[in-house]
Amino acid sequence: MPQLKAIAQLGEPVLRLTAQGIQQFDTGSVRSLMADMLHTLNESGGVGLAAPQVHESVRMIIVASRPTPRYPHAPEMPATIMINPEFCVLSEALEKDWEGCLSIPGIRALIPRHQNIGVTFTDAEGLLQQLELQGFPARVLQHEIDHLDGLVYLDRVENNRDIISETEFFKLHAPSKI
Ligand code: ZN
Repeated sequence: MPQLKAIAQLGEPVLRLTAQGIQQFDTGSVRSLMADMLHTLNESGGVGLAAPQVHESVRMIIVASRPTPRYPHAPEMPATIMINPEFCVLSEALEKDWEGCLSIPGIRALIPRHQNIGVTFTDAEGLLQQLELQGFPARVLQHEIDHLDGLVYLDRVENNRDIISETEFFKLHAPSKI
């Protein structure tokens, strides 16, 4: 049975480590980490999760853009497990949009990200995959890869005035208003 994992909170050292690459994919520990992360993400209403957020400092993320109460306008894509993901920038253009993080509850901030990226990763079956992502899913991917490098989204805020409370965010972006 997959386990619901506690989410590491900002201040816990694991969020500031550089996560280690995964060399062997088909092991019990990798499979149970995948299952636990998927279960934890589904229960949390997030749209992405990185292994360091469940206290495992290894290079595994899930990108799962879909509408949730936390992100009512997120586009739908299948939950994708990515092992050792790396991305390249396909358009230099940066776009600011709102982000939040399960490890930093209660606030949202405007963060500049590349709009269009290519990503290579090993999938849950151990196969090498390539994907092109645009817009919100590309944003989620960049946010999650930052977690593998010991960064959080607040490190990329350009101006402290771009940080607001989650309560205010939901007032501004209530589904009925857009
Ligand atoms: Zn995060």
